[in-house]
Amino acid sequence: MKKMPRRRFLRSAAALGLGATAAGRWAQVPTRTPPPGRGIPLVLTSHTNDTGREALGQAWEILAGGGTALDAVERGANVIELDPDDTSVGYGGLPNAEGVVQLDASIMDGRTYSAGAVAALEGIKTPSSVARLVMERTDHVLIVGPGAQRLAVDFGYRVENLLTERARQAWLRWRENLSELDDWGPPEHLARRRRGGGGEVPPHERAEFHYGTTNVLAVDAKGDIAGVTTTSGLSWKIPYRVGDSPIIGAGLYVDNSVGAAGATGRGEDVIKSCASYFIVLRMKEGRTPQQACEDAVEMILDRYRAVGLDFVPPEKFVALNKAGQYGCASMPSGSDCRLTVRHQGGTETYEGVSLG
Ligand code: ASP
Repeated sequence: MKKMPRRRFLRSAAALGLGATAAGRWAQVPTRTPPPGRGIPLVLTSHTNDTGREALGQAWEILAGGGTALDAVERGANVIELDPDDTSVGYGGLPNAEGVVQLDASIMDGRTYSAGAVAALEGIKTPSSVARLVMERTDHVLIVGPGAQRLAVDFGYRVENLLTERARQAWLRWRENLSELDDWGPPEHLARRRRGGGGEVPPHERAEFHYGTTNVLAVDAKGDIAGVTTTSGLSWKIPYRVGDSPIIGAGLYVDNSVGAAGATGRGEDVIKSCASYFIVLRMKEGRTPQQACEDAVEMILDRYRAVGLDFVPPEKFVALNKAGQYGCASMPSGSDCRLTVRHQGGTETYEGVSLG
């Protein structure tokens, strides 16, 4: 690739409003919550149910025993992936439009600056562990579909049926309620949905519809940082649709000198905004994890305002930094903005801020 002379690059950056101007602008966004700091080691998850607490309990055992953040986040993610009653992650996740469960996951190890991910993986209950295989046993970052399953089988995983009876019944209910207002549509259809459906809720949106994912982020006693994001993706998605969770920089990002961030919610917006990378960058610029998560919400809202749309996609961001501070922000206003965290003082639910 031809290199751009430095002076020309700076001029183009200024024309685009990058650099100090952009940084200054986001820095003015006020934070609503004082950032907590609990020291290290520390592990958190975006899940706030009993399984989330159990996941942190097992991850904490690793951290308390001097283990790595990488092992801790994988263990925590596996606990949530294996819960058959969780319809948004791993085994028991809601299927795609054809009734097939396709899983996305990513893992990132700050200590070695390495990452791995799988997308549209079928038949394997713990996709985050397969993502770790991609990271540690191949020279690639992302492997998808049958290729990801083949890799898992090569390493001894068994292909299993991931569709639980509960998820199958939910899928059948959705299919019975199908209308022409599905995920396929012309541009007007997408614009209408972003504006809120023009008053009446379309029939398919009245049917059971689910977002859901989990992030597990940790900093270990040595100060090394790792993260996992794992999901069954949007329910009833178009087959082979890939969300933000396996996209490094979108659903997950880790920088060992700064911290880690993860996203849940409508993946399309997280991909377009590179939200997790943005949050880590903001922390590098001096923002606390709480402030940086709020910055990401404001940044996405601002992008839509700039094109004349009052669209507030449902998202939740979680982050931690090297010092053991953490934060969470969500949109729209009033949505769940909690995370569960485990530190030396015990396990607690932390409530961040919802905006938009
Ligand atoms: N972010 C996930 C995706 O878009 C879904 C979710 O978090 O609800 O696939």
